[in-house]
Amino acid sequence: MAMTPQDVLALCRERDIKAIDFRFMDFPGLWQHFCIPVGKLDEALFEEGLGFDGSSIRGWQAINESDMLLVPDPETAFVDPFAHMPTMVIICNVQDPITREDYTRDPRNIARKGVNYLRSTGIADTCFIGPEAEFFVFDDIRFDSRPEGSYYLIDSAEAEWNRGADEGPNLGHKIRHKEGYFPCPPADTLFDIRNEMMQTMIECGMDVEAAHHEVATAGQCEIDLRFDELVSMGDKICKYKYIIKNVAHRHGKSATFMPKPLFSDNGSGMHCHISLWKGGEPLFAGNGYAGLSEMALYALGGILKHAPALLALTNPTTNSYKRLVPGFEAPVNLAYSQRNRSASCRIPMYSPSPKAKRIEFRCPDPSCNPYLAFTALMMAALDGIQNKIDPGEPLDKDIYDLSPEELADVPSTPPSLEAALEALAKDHEFLLRGDVFTEDVISTWISYKMKNEVKVLALRPHPHEFCMYY
Ligand code: GLN
Ligand code: MG
Ligand code: MG
Ligand code: MG
Repeated sequence: MAMTPQDVLALCRERDIKAIDFRFMDFPGLWQHFCIPVGKLDEALFEEGLGFDGSSIRGWQAINESDMLLVPDPETAFVDPFAHMPTMVIICNVQDPITREDYTRDPRNIARKGVNYLRSTGIADTCFIGPEAEFFVFDDIRFDSRPEGSYYLIDSAEAEWNRGADEGPNLGHKIRHKEGYFPCPPADTLFDIRNEMMQTMIECGMDVEAAHHEVATAGQCEIDLRFDELVSMGDKICKYKYIIKNVAHRHGKSATFMPKPLFSDNGSGMHCHISLWKGGEPLFAGNGYAGLSEMALYALGGILKHAPALLALTNPTTNSYKRLVPGFEAPVNLAYSQRNRSASCRIPMYSPSPKAKRIEFRCPDPSCNPYLAFTALMMAALDGIQNKIDPGEPLDKDIYDLSPEELADVPSTPPSLEAALEALAKDHEFLLRGDVFTEDVISTWISYKMKNEVKVLALRPHPHEFCMYY
């Protein structure tokens, strides 16, 4: 049920709310906030918005006019589960205060434009996204965060396991290498914390389907949300990360969505299930391969064709590419299959219902900006549909076991963020349709990532270089 400004104000009175916290997402993908006393919220503010200085927000510096407007979306209001003082959170859209135009670099605006564009094509009216975001919970992470810092240390159940003897008696409950999926407690020490995360999500209006430990040795988890419409799912992933990080923090632990925190163990992905619907009817079910419609096969063609560029948005960190290696259930080749988890696109076969028919794109990881990643994925699928892009033959073998000759024709995921950014520089026409992503957004993304991440990392001595060369 969609909330109006009046509903939000009534809820504030009912719950004795004292503060209103406005949230929005910066360009790379971190939630930002700005708080006002509840007495300053009235119906007019939902129209007029609230001014703030956008000049220090990452990726937004280039604007000369740094004054910006946060316009709260009443449909997104929820009571903050962590604030000590009763606080209502409202997700905002960002506008230019003079022209009152939506800001083109606001990721949520890009997602909203994406959905409007989808409707304008007449192909579909709804894009459902079901993400499976994985994450690690560690006991301690120490890193030198000064600009010249170059070392880090993770202390976790896994590190303890590797150290072996120094934590008292071995009671035989430790998860062995890659056996985290998923024995009961006492092996699974995160059971209670994960359930607390799950319950908090439900209280914040999220529909949770399941929660479980993941395959990595220790500390890797996944909580699955029921699929939802694209913009709303972008909002939910912001809430998801906020809740996971804060529940972990409450227990003196630290949660991370970094895709590959541990060498030689599974990384964290965010597989994204996508389907298009029109007038309440699913469009991806049909009589083709794995029960897909022709439209869904073309969508697959678009996703696979644009995957190298797409990954610059769905796998947007230097660390993302340390996950996309063989042997850890992460995709390494750009192919599709109904049973194969080593293919970057999988067609899940759990349910015969046409409503469940979808494409699972396994490349994305949770370091992405969800609004940008979901929108780019949808735009690639749409391009495939509009241009009838043939996805080629499915690859129903274990790609990890193929010989080099057999693999020769199967393209690989890009080897690095730099390579993905180069692919995006060459291939982004499909993102510009309907002004969803603008040339400015694409070029700012590429230069931001090159300057602040790719180059910054390349300049620093790496901990492992000390191991190899010291
Ligand atoms: N962690 C794996 C990945 O990186 C996925 C494991 C799974 O969900 N089967 O994608
Ligand atoms: Mg899963
Ligand atoms: Mg998983
Ligand atoms: Mg999956």
